[in-house]
Amino acid sequence: MIIHLKDSIGPEQAEQLAAAHKAVFFKKNETFVLVLPSAIKEVPTELESVTEGAWVSESDIQLAARTYRDEVREVTWGNTRVGGNSNNTVVIAGPCSAESMEQLEITAQLLKDTGISNLRAGCYKPRTSPYSFQGLGLKGLKMLAEMREKYGFAIVTEVRDATHVEEVIEYADVVQIGAKSMYDHGILRRCGKANKPVLLKRGFGSTLQEFVQCAEFILSGGNEQVMLCERGIRTFETKTRFTLDLCGAAYLKQYTNLPVILDPSHAMGYSYGVPDLTRACMALGVDGLLIETHPSPPKALSDASQQLNHDEFRALMTSLQPLAKALNRNLI
Ligand code: PEP
Ligand code: MN
Repeated sequence: MIIHLKDSIGPEQAEQLAAAHKAVFFKKNETFVLVLPSAIKEVPTELESVTEGAWVSESDIQLAARTYRDEVREVTWGNTRVGGNSNNTVVIAGPCSAESMEQLEITAQLLKDTGISNLRAGCYKPRTSPYSFQGLGLKGLKMLAEMREKYGFAIVTEVRDATHVEEVIEYADVVQIGAKSMYDHGILRRCGKANKPVLLKRGFGSTLQEFVQCAEFILSGGNEQVMLCERGIRTFETKTRFTLDLCGAAYLKQYTNLPVILDPSHAMGYSYGVPDLTRACMALGVDGLLIETHPSPPKALSDASQQLNHDEFRALMTSLQPLAKALNRNLI
């Protein structure tokens, strides 16, 4: 159950009430919010006089649930707005990894030509092998900051583990938490205290319930700016890298109040299928698309097989425009 305390309740009293009721609490504008376990369905008698509003939750999807807020939250950074009543579908694009200034400069040109203002590239890569390229780390973050400075892009980049979460929060405009880090509570809790939007990717072996509960860790830390990213789950199928859970995306849109971003690149794993899959995502009317593109995919240091080359990316963007129009969405 979610309880908004009356504005007259100060921090000490809120803390005491939270402790007494085993609740998580945080401050939202001038109001303290208590989140009690979802098994509690009625405002406890001792809290009645201090309660301004209360919401019953079906499960521990609470702050992210439509039963709490019956609209999609608006998440904003720089000039980008998603959710709310924006009708925007944001394209977040770039190479899997930041590799060199030259690579980023060529990518910057592509983004400028196609009117995209969100550059995504990883600097701390959660690789499946310790012998593969691990990312440029801080050096890469500094290169991305240079791109922001020079071209005005917003930077989306991922945090792999809690050892460099401060660095990524400092350099990124949007902090991406990768699929393999979805359950890293150090990252989740730190991001809950951050004043930056967070793009949380679904672990490929996680249920929707588990996924959204991870978002609850961030929301209940007081950070309202969370977006959910479906990027494919593992099924029995081996012909594609993962299986993009479009049913799951429909569920998230219906039952949560968080913007939904789809990542056809990691789901498909092979560039040939990415354009069709992206159009299918677009047809779902989602809040954003995450697409990997590289100046020379065969030479990419990570995720080479799934990245579109720049001609393919341009063609994809052109093909999305009429779909966006038909769906009354602004592709930004
Ligand atoms: C990525 O976005 O490059 C990435 C590593 O994706 P995921 O965390 O979804 O595997
Ligand atoms: Mn990748």
